[in-house]
Amino acid sequence: MSVTGLPPYDDANIFARILRGEIPCKRVHEDAHALAFHDINPQAPVHVLVIPKGRYVSVADFSAHASEAEITGFWRAVAKVAKDLGLEAGGYRVLTNMGADGGQEVPHFHVHVFGGRRIGRMVPKAD
Ligand code: AMP
Repeated sequence: MSVTGLPPYDDANIFARILRGEIPCKRVHEDAHALAFHDINPQAPVHVLVIPKGRYVSVADFSAHASEAEITGFWRAVAKVAKDLGLEAGGYRVLTNMGADGGQEVPHFHVHVFGGRRIGRMVPKAD
């Protein structure tokens, strides 16, 4: 385990492969610090993923180790993507899953942007 609570970065993860162009994605935005593309299994009318270009496993890793330019560029891209997709007026949700309890499946830091309808409760009620 690394200090982030997750194994070290795995270059074979699916988002690393998308960044390298080895598998396709439905891209909506790309700049020096971020790539945004539609989620393959959308949970809302708009469900986009925004990922940094650097090798960070989680929000914890990104926050601890990314440069200020990467962090600023990434979050500016998140808000720009939501705006460009027409979500700003109606509102939207930005969410990141971290580690086992967060339900993170892909070990490359990403945020989900959900919109296009009322998204509902922040999290389901406890089991
Ligand atoms: P998380 O649980 O936060 O790690 O979410 C991973 C997300 O990645 C899920 O919503 C998946 O549907 C999505 N996903 C997995 N593979 C792909 C892919 N090849 N292209 C787009 N989205 C994907």
